[in-house]
Amino acid sequence: MLADSYGRVATDLRVSLTDRCNLRCTYCMPPEGLDWLPSAEQLTDDELIRLLGIAVGQLGITEVRFTGGEPLLRRGLPGIVARTASLSPRPEISLTTNGIGLTRLAGPLRDAGLDRINVSLDTLNAETFVKLARRDRLDDVLAGLAAAADAGLIPVKVNAVLMRDINGNEAVDLLQFCLDRGYQLRFIEQMPLDAQHGWRRDDMVTADEILTALSAKFSLTPDDPAGRGSAPAEAFLVDGGPARVGVIGSVTRPFCGSCDRVRLTADGQVRNCLFARQESDLRTPLRAGADDLELADRWRLAVAAKLPGHGINDPGFLQPARPMSAIGG
Ligand code: SAM
Ligand code: SF4
Repeated sequence: MLADSYGRVATDLRVSLTDRCNLRCTYCMPPEGLDWLPSAEQLTDDELIRLLGIAVGQLGITEVRFTGGEPLLRRGLPGIVARTASLSPRPEISLTTNGIGLTRLAGPLRDAGLDRINVSLDTLNAETFVKLARRDRLDDVLAGLAAAADAGLIPVKVNAVLMRDINGNEAVDLLQFCLDRGYQLRFIEQMPLDAQHGWRRDDMVTADEILTALSAKFSLTPDDPAGRGSAPAEAFLVDGGPARVGVIGSVTRPFCGSCDRVRLTADGQVRNCLFARQESDLRTPLRAGADDLELADRWRLAVAAKLPGHGINDPGFLQPARPMSAIGG
C-alpha cells in the first residue's frame, strides 16, 4: 500500500506522459512555452510500463490517469494504454487531454483499453479561446469532444477553469452545452500552479461564485449529501437529474484530508501532492539496475512523507518549482 502518516492511502496514480503542449493556456504556461524535458530524461515506454507494473502489482494502485502537458502528443500513446491494460491486476485507465487530435486517436485509444476521458474546455467562444489558450484551436477541441463520444468513451467528462476577466461569465453556457450533448461538466478553481507564478486569488472564480451563477438558470441539488468521499468534485444534480455538474473547489474547499492521489512525472519523479516541494527520483535507481522491491520501497517512502494539506491558504505558502504541465495535472 501507498499509505501516508495521516492515514490516507493513494490508489489513484496520475502519470504525466510529456511536459510539452500545443496550447499555452494562460493559467498554465507562458506564451513562449517552457524549456521542455530533453527526451533522454523522459521515461521510455518500457521504463514507464515497468513502474506502472510495480504500482498496480505491489502498491495497490487501481486507477491510472494519463495526463501532461498534452498526453496526445506522446508518440505511441495507444500502445502505452494497451500495455497498461494488460497489467495485472488491470487498473482503470483514464486520460486528461485538451482534445486536439482526438478525431484521429479516440477510436484507437478506446480499442487499446482506455476507460474514461476528460477533455478540457474553458470557453465556447473562438476569440476567448485564443485569448485563453493563445492558439486558434477551439474547433479542433470541439471536434475532439465529439470524436470521443462517437468512439464510445462515454460519458465524456469536460473540465473547465474560469478566470474572472476572460471566461468568467461562461459557466451557464458551458453547462448548457454539456447538457445538450450528454457530457459531464466539472469546474475546477484556478490554482497557483502556472509556470509564470502569476496566479492571483482575485482572478480566480470561486466555487461559490460558480454555483451562484449556475443557480440563476438551473436548480442544483447536492448529489451526495453524505459527502464526497475521496472525489474532489462536489456533485450536483441539475434540474432534478439525472444530469450532473461538479465543482472542484481546490482552493476554497480543499479536499486534502481525503486525497487518494499520487503522481509520476514524465521524467520518473514521484510527487505525493500537486503542491509538493520535493520529489522522489525513481528514474535514477531504475536506470542503475534497482529491482522492483527497491523501487517499490522508494515509492512507499515518497508517499509516507506526504504533508496533511496543500497550504495554499497559509500565509507562508510557496508555489512548487515545477508547473502543472510538468507535474501532470
Ligand atoms: N493538456 C491536458 C489538458 O489541458 O487537459 C492535460 C494536462 S492539464 C495540466 C490538466 C488539467 O489541469 C486541465 O483540465 C487544465 O485545465 C487544468 N489546469 C491547468 N492549470 C491549472 C491551474 N493553474 N489551475 C487549475 N487547473 C489547471
Ligand atoms: Fe496545455 Fe493542458 Fe496546460 Fe493548457 S492546461 S497549456 S492544454 S497542458
